[in-house]
Amino acid sequence: MHNWAGNIEFEAARVHRPGTVEEARRIVAAAEQVKVLGSGHSFNRVADTSGDLLVLDGLPRGAEVSADRRTVTVSGSPRYAELARELHARGLALANLASLPHISVAGSCATGTHGSGNGLQGLAAAVTAMRLITADGELLDVSREKDVDRFAGSVVALGALGAVVGLTLAVEPAFEVAQWVYDDVPLDRIADRFDEVFGTAYSVSAFTDWGRDTASVWVKCRPDREGGAHPGARWLDGRLADGPRHPVPGLSPVHCTGQLGVPGPWHERLPHFRPDFTPSAGEELQSELLLPREAAAAAIAEMRALGPRIAPLLLTSEIRTVAADDLWLSPAYGRDSVAVHCTWRPVSDAVREAIALIERELLPLGGRPHWGKLFGLAPEAVGALYERGGDFRRLMTELDPRSAFRNDYVAAAFPRP
Ligand SMILES: Cc1cc2nc3c(=O)[nH]c(=O)nc-3n(C[C@H](O)[C@H](O)[C@H](O)COP(=O)(O)OP(=O)(O)OC[C@H]3O[C@@H](n4cnc5c(N)ncnc54)[C@H](O)[C@@H]3O)c2cc1C
Repeated sequence: MHNWAGNIEFEAARVHRPGTVEEARRIVAAAEQVKVLGSGHSFNRVADTSGDLLVLDGLPRGAEVSADRRTVTVSGSPRYAELARELHARGLALANLASLPHISVAGSCATGTHGSGNGLQGLAAAVTAMRLITADGELLDVSREKDVDRFAGSVVALGALGAVVGLTLAVEPAFEVAQWVYDDVPLDRIADRFDEVFGTAYSVSAFTDWGRDTASVWVKCRPDREGGAHPGARWLDGRLADGPRHPVPGLSPVHCTGQLGVPGPWHERLPHFRPDFTPSAGEELQSELLLPREAAAAAIAEMRALGPRIAPLLLTSEIRTVAADDLWLSPAYGRDSVAVHCTWRPVSDAVREAIALIERELLPLGGRPHWGKLFGLAPEAVGALYERGGDFRRLMTELDPRSAFRNDYVAAAFPRP
């Protein structure tokens, strides 16, 4: 059994697909070592275990909207595509989504997954309450309202506190998004006018391979807030694309969400890829660093300097912005962030070397690696990047005193206090 990218073969001794929460509780209580696998889209061993691996896609699903229509409580293990369809049918929306809608909600929140938007936090910031099966097999409810401190440590938690079987998420009235792409925007403009570029719309992404001096900028506007007009046929010395684009230049945009300014529902525009296209496996690897937003221009300069060495290995690279949150292990904890993501050709050794080169330049600028992607930094050094890491270690000991959910990855990043 392997992850989506095929670069990780899971080492679990047993795989379980419980059909009820009761069954999941019994498996957890009896297991020496246990971990939940979400949709398996992480590129490292964050979801692995030497013991029992739980796949929760057989649990009964539910999505209950609160009376005031401000939250939805999901049970089971839905993926964003499924939840988004259901919410939209009820006239509701999530504030943001990642580039791909096929990832599980619980697994995405556990690693601090994010989309883009100066004012938009990572996806985990939408969580207001969660239900966990803890190592003793008991159910534990935590909520932002009732358990302020413990909650901030429980949402982005690398699956280390228990098995999440229920999540309550903030929702808002459904909205439309219109998406445009600008070709050939000079990287100089993006670096010099970073706040203007990324502040121009609800969600903005810039794609380049660092081997050229330009990027394509994807602009996702909310017509209800921003009027729905594009910034102009020429913008920042770039040109409005004359047809739909794929983030990897030259690839067919057939699986990409609607562009050319045609308004569409939030869940069919915010991700770059369409929900009705499900890639079963990927021929790519990914890495990403999140840095303080003020470091954006310096990070772009460092990536450009590395361009000749990394461009031949890159399928594409994406710059996004993420708003600060208060979740202890969120890579955007306490700081508005810029995210520098790389989608690599699947050639592991060369990619590892390229990631090390990037880390050498971007870690001193305050970079924190994405928990679900590849990084070269030793796990204990990654854990040390988080000022609330000590509190997280204490929380793990409190909720999982027998270290059942603490796999090698988590144990290395956050050793027992
Ligand atoms: C094609 C592709 C596109 C991507 N796009 C983005 C993007 O736009 N933005 C971004 O930030 N990241 C992105 N990622 C990374 C991805 O979002 C993360 O790796 C995320 O964790 C994947 O969710 P998953 O359910 O597949 O998690 P898994 O890899 O299955 O698990 C991740 C962690 O969550 C835990 N977990 C999962 N489910 C549960 C549960 N029910 N209870 C307790 N713990 C649980 C696991 O134990 C593990 O620790 C992308 C990855 C791919 C392959």
